[in-house]
Amino acid sequence: MLIDSHCHLVYQGLVERQAEVLANARAAGVDGFLNISTREREWDEVVAVAEREPDVWATVGIHPHEADQHADLGREKLLAASDHPKVIGLGESGLDYYYDKSDRDVQRDLFRMHIGVARETGLPLVIHTRDADRDTADILADEMGKGAFPALIHCFTASPAFGRQVLEMGLTISLSGIVTFKNAVELQEFAKEIPAGRLLVETDSPFLAPVPHRGKKCEPAFVRNTAEFVADLRGVNVEELAATTTANFFALFTKAGRKGAA
Ligand SMILES: [Zn+2]
Ligand SMILES: [Zn+2]
Repeated sequence: MLIDSHCHLVYQGLVERQAEVLANARAAGVDGFLNISTREREWDEVVAVAEREPDVWATVGIHPHEADQHADLGREKLLAASDHPKVIGLGESGLDYYYDKSDRDVQRDLFRMHIGVARETGLPLVIHTRDADRDTADILADEMGKGAFPALIHCFTASPAFGRQVLEMGLTISLSGIVTFKNAVELQEFAKEIPAGRLLVETDSPFLAPVPHRGKKCEPAFVRNTAEFVADLRGVNVEELAATTTANFFALFTKAGRKGAA
């Protein structure tokens, strides 16, 4: 049993062959999928996949790239959308200073708004952060000081120092196919030190196909390649890594295990 903790099943590249990519993944032993939202207008479609497929869950939230378009979203809308039984988390939200597609102040405001809703609902926040280690850590520390909330860093590519900081704050770390890339030496070293109970794996499909699928459209079945690679790094077999990361998923996303949500 293996769970893809982060995929975009309604994005181009997957949406056209959604049934096929889900079947491929199930055949590869992947039997849980967290379908991630990035903007308000896709929430209904993202949640609809989860309504249709028993092993798919959904998040609602605003990606930092989309922050400018959602400056006036308001927490009530997010709160209301998060009430759906198959919505088990929030996000992806956070800071992206690499592409800088939205005003940084708006990114930070929306990130804090998502954190507030995570604290209030107890739903974990799926955090996207790129080239923004310092501001992300500062906001997390400040907000944790106001009251704890569950969260994970998805597609972790930041520095080991940042990784240790967020682990200390109680966050979980999710590794994508990037960890399999030949030049990801620092990330591979850090992957060995993440505590077993705080680790997840994901594809972020349709992006970031892991080795040996690089250059292809990424799909959830490929989470197995990332799991095998990470298991090898950590000196455990893939079955053990699959069992651990699956247990971690349900321990973090507690709503996935609730009656009526599965
Ligand atoms: Zn992301
Ligand atoms: Zn994503």
